[in-house]
Amino acid sequence: MAFILGFFMLVVLIVLASYMCIRASRQPPLPYRPPDRPPAPGLVPGIDEATLLSYPKFLYSSAKREQGAGTCPICLGDYRDSDVLRMLPDCGHFFHVKCVDPWLRSSPTCPICRKCQCVERAQDSVVLGN
Ligand SMILES: [Zn+2]
Ligand SMILES: [Zn+2]
Repeated sequence: MAFILGFFMLVVLIVLASYMCIRASRQPPLPYRPPDRPPAPGLVPGIDEATLLSYPKFLYSSAKREQGAGTCPICLGDYRDSDVLRMLPDCGHFFHVKCVDPWLRSSPTCPICRKCQCVERAQDSVVLGN
C-alpha cells in the first residue's frame, strides 16, 4: 500500500513539475509599445517607402509666399529657408521631411487633420486617369 501511495505521489509531482515548466516557458503578454520605436521590418502599418517618396517635396523658401504657416506642427520648430518640407497630397498639409517621414512610416494619417493618406486611393486615381 505504501508503495502505491509513494508511486502516486511521484506521478503527481512529475505532473506538477511539467505544468510549472510549461507556465514558465510561456511568454508573458507584450507590454504597450511606445509609438516612437520604429516598427519591425515587414510589420509596418504606415505608408510604404515608395509611396512616401512620391509625395511632393520642396524647399520652404520656395513656398513660404503662398503658405501662411511657418511652424512645423510635429517638432514645433520654425521653418527656415533651407528646410526641406513634404506635402501630403490628400490634404495639402506640409511638414519637415525629417519629421513627417518617420510619422508616415508608422501611421498613414496626417498629423494635423488625421486624413488617411491611404495607398489604395493613390492606386485608384491612377486607374481613373486612364
Ligand atoms: Zn519638424
Ligand atoms: Zn492634413
